[in-house]
Amino acid sequence: MAAEQFDKVADFLDLSDELRERCKWPKRLITVTVPVRRDDGSTELYFGHRVQHHLTRGPVKGGLRYHPAVDLGEVAALAMWMNWKCALMDLPYGGGKGGICCDPRNMSIAELERMTRRFTMEMIPFIGPETDVMAPDMGTNEQTMAWITDTYSTHAGHLEPAIVTGKPLTLQGSAGRTQATGHGVAFLASSALNKLDLPVRGSTAIVQGFGNVGSHAAQTMASYGMKVIGISDVNGAIWNPEGIDVKALKAYEIEHRTVVGFPGAEPVDPAKMLTEPCDVLAPCALDRVIHGDNAGQLQCKILAEGANGPTTPEADRIIDARGDIFVIPDILCNAGGVTVSYFEWVQNLQRFQWTEREVITKLETRLHASFEKVVGFAQRNNISQRTAAQAIAIKTAADAKAARGMFP
Ligand code: GLU
Repeated sequence: MAAEQFDKVADFLDLSDELRERCKWPKRLITVTVPVRRDDGSTELYFGHRVQHHLTRGPVKGGLRYHPAVDLGEVAALAMWMNWKCALMDLPYGGGKGGICCDPRNMSIAELERMTRRFTMEMIPFIGPETDVMAPDMGTNEQTMAWITDTYSTHAGHLEPAIVTGKPLTLQGSAGRTQATGHGVAFLASSALNKLDLPVRGSTAIVQGFGNVGSHAAQTMASYGMKVIGISDVNGAIWNPEGIDVKALKAYEIEHRTVVGFPGAEPVDPAKMLTEPCDVLAPCALDRVIHGDNAGQLQCKILAEGANGPTTPEADRIIDARGDIFVIPDILCNAGGVTVSYFEWVQNLQRFQWTEREVITKLETRLHASFEKVVGFAQRNNISQRTAAQAIAIKTAADAKAARGMFP
C-alpha cells in the first residue's frame, strides 16, 4: 500500500528517477532476535525489527509495536508513513517504526519487561536522542517506554529522557502526550465539520477502536458536544443513537477491559457499524478496515483516519469516484501523537516542562496549519486530500535530500 501510494505521488510530483529511488527505499532495516525467559522457565525467541526510513531531516521518529502480525515489511511501510507524517507536520525528523512479533496479551508483565529490556539492549548501537527516538504504538504504552528509558540510561550511566517519548510524567514525559493522538483526531474532525458548514455540537460520530487513540478521540468529541453513537473494540461494538456517555464507558472499560456489555448502549455488529449513517467515521484501530467491499456503502460525511493505513488503495479509488466524503488522511489525522512526542523530546533536551495548556495550544496551531495546507493544496490541484498530504510530505523530504546532495 505504502509503495503504491508513493509511486502515485512521485508521478504527480514528477520526481527524478534518482530522488524517486532514494525517497522510496529505507536507509536502514535492522532485525534482531530477542530471547526471552518465560515465567515457566522455558525460552522463547522473538523477532524484533526497526526500520529507519530516512535520517535526512533529523533523527528518525516513530512507534514500537507489539503484535502477532508484525513483520519487516509491515514495519518498513509504517516507517515510510512516519516519514511522511513528520515531514507534513514540519517536525525535524525522519520516519521510523519498530515492532516485535509477539502476542502481548498472552504475556505476563514480567515477560514483557524482559523482552523490552533485551530488545533495547540489542538496539543500543542503532538508537539515541539524535539518531532514533521510539514511542508507543499498538501493544506498547508508557510503561514500555519507561523500561526502554531505564535500560538505555543504565547503559549510558545517566538518565537520558530524550531516548523515547510517550514516557510517564514522573520520567519527564510531556503533559498532554497520552491524549494527543485522539485529541488531534477530534480537533481535525471538528475542523472538517466547520469546513463543510456543519455544526459541531450535535453532530454524530462512530469510532472504531477504544484504545489510546479511539478512547481519547471519543472523549474529546463528546467534550465538543458531538454525539458518539457507535464505538467498537476487538471484542465487539456498542450503539446508542442518543450518544454514548463516553466518560462512563471509559470507567466501565477500565474495569471490564472491553466496551462490550456497557449498560448505556445496545450491542451492534462491528462490521455493520462502519456503514451506518453518521457525520464522522473515525477508524482508530487496525489498518485496511475500509476496503473494496465496504467503501461503496459508507454513509459518513467525514472519514477521520485515526489509525495508520485504515483505507486500502482500492477503497480510495471508490471514495474518490464517489466524491461525497471529506477524507482526513491518516498522516494528518493521527499526527497529534508524534507532534506532542516532538514537544516532549524538545522539553527533554532543554530539561524544561511545559504546561498542558501550552502543549495543547501549540498542538492545535500546528494541526490547523497542516490541515489548511492539505485542503488548499488538494483544491488547487484538483486531487484527493490523501494525495495532497502525501505530496506535500514527499516533496519536503525530497527537497531536503536534494539540498543535502549525495555523498560522496
Ligand atoms: N506510534 C505513533 C504514530 O504512529 C506515535 C509515534 C511517535 O510519537 O513517535 O504516529
